[in-house]
Amino acid sequence: MEQKDDLLKEVISHAKEYGFVFPSSEIYDGLSATYDYGQLGSELKNNIKNYWWKSMVQMHENIVGIDASIFMHPTTWKASGHVDAFNDPLIDNKDSKKRYRADVLLEEYMEKIRLKSEKEVEKGIKKFGESFDEAQFRATNPNVTRNNEKIKAVEDRMRSALENNDLVAVKQLIEDLEIACPVSGSKNWTDVRQFNLMFSTEMGSVAGDASTIYLRPETAQGIFVNFLNVQKSGRMKIPFGIAQIGKAFRNEIIARQFIFRMREFEQMEMQFFVRPGEEMKWYNQWKENRLKWHAALGLGDENYRFHDHIKLAHYANAACDIEFNFPMGFKELEGIHSRTDFDLKQHEQFSGKKLQYFDPELNQNYVPYVIETSIGLDRMFLAILSASLKKEQLEDGSERVVLKLPASLAPYKVAIMPLTKKDGLPEKAREIIDQLKFDFNCQYDEKDSIGKRYRRQDAIGTPFSVTVDHESLEDNTVTIRDRDTMEQKRVSIDELSAMLAKRTALSTLLK
Ligand code: ATP
Repeated sequence: MEQKDDLLKEVISHAKEYGFVFPSSEIYDGLSATYDYGQLGSELKNNIKNYWWKSMVQMHENIVGIDASIFMHPTTWKASGHVDAFNDPLIDNKDSKKRYRADVLLEEYMEKIRLKSEKEVEKGIKKFGESFDEAQFRATNPNVTRNNEKIKAVEDRMRSALENNDLVAVKQLIEDLEIACPVSGSKNWTDVRQFNLMFSTEMGSVAGDASTIYLRPETAQGIFVNFLNVQKSGRMKIPFGIAQIGKAFRNEIIARQFIFRMREFEQMEMQFFVRPGEEMKWYNQWKENRLKWHAALGLGDENYRFHDHIKLAHYANAACDIEFNFPMGFKELEGIHSRTDFDLKQHEQFSGKKLQYFDPELNQNYVPYVIETSIGLDRMFLAILSASLKKEQLEDGSERVVLKLPASLAPYKVAIMPLTKKDGLPEKAREIIDQLKFDFNCQYDEKDSIGKRYRRQDAIGTPFSVTVDHESLEDNTVTIRDRDTMEQKRVSIDELSAMLAKRTALSTLLK
């Protein structure tokens, strides 16, 4: 699937056709930016969650997990700053009537310039081959350095405007750069306005402000308000982490691009509590750890990059994103933030309760500093799906569509197929499933030719297919086919379980 522009469309239609992701309430023409995970999607999603939970929680002695409620006391969101500051700057194009995030328009403008530089570098590589010194080229090529200066100038103006909440300056920057609406092509913009992203609803039957509550826009606050509960009941010693997987809700201004930006989504977050002054050490450590977690999936190291935040959030003293090369280009997949002691201090102030830790080594009480790693489960799903979907030309001239999912995340680990529907072959196949089903999600498939069945398993990413034939009844052997190499081997049924474990267990990623 070389054509990047078409890849997102292909991913969306493949996801629907095979039961990974459906538009929500589709029979009513859907609801914008909400999606349902189907029978295979929910398996894949659960496997991603498992991979995260196992590696972040169960494999760290000093990290534990919780499951906090979505509704929280409304003061939580006053304290966290979300009521006053969880805004996006929005701008409308008067001709197309399309709405945009002003900061995203500027980010995209800078990305275009960066891509121009990358083209220059590619040209250099082609021209000079082996002898090409990329670092020197980047530092000295006049086009590249000019582009870097341009980006830097835009970044500086954007940071200053956003930090000072100067919306007039944001609009001025968009006008000065002559950014046009991608739909109408016009530069006829409205003023920039702030828009709060929290959904609110009412609790109980009493009307009025006191009963207004919010759907949580991030899972992090459920961790902060439970900091002492967990620390005390779990006898946790700093440094330690609290992790959580759960739904979050944001009334996003523009929610396009499939499950990349939804109004209801799922986060996998971990807050790591450290001694004040040690946060930078841990920030760097977690950047490294998280990148390793991604790399283990084998989707290609070149598909990840760090991006430092241009404008730091009100609570952070350092922040970066791990960006992934999505079908739409490099975009944020995960955020790593040094949140200082901002959240715990705010909750102390608003609740009047102390949220401090007594450090026996220092013989001192303090409010811990926090490093957060926060990844969108749905974005992770999209990253995996889009990097795995491949079209391959086969030797006989035909083409196959294959979903090369990391084997341990695949919805089904193995498909068991009787060669024919008679002669006791289906019974033998079901016998094998009965042995394997405790450890591996298996699919039984007896319909159509074996070739067609292989293609179906390729399309849903099943790493192995096992065919039961007449010989199987005599000598207890089967043919096992590898999804990626398409190689087939004759093996004893008794070996299947160990073979599958070796190739598809989660531990292959975790080790
Ligand atoms: P963006 O800049 O793309 O809006 P963000 O910086 O607001 O994202 P964070 O607040 O850092 O995002 O949230 C942590 C993670 O949650 C993100 O890295 C992303 O993977 C995920 N996430 C955030 N908003 C959405 C959304 N609307 N839909 C799906 N995932 C999301």
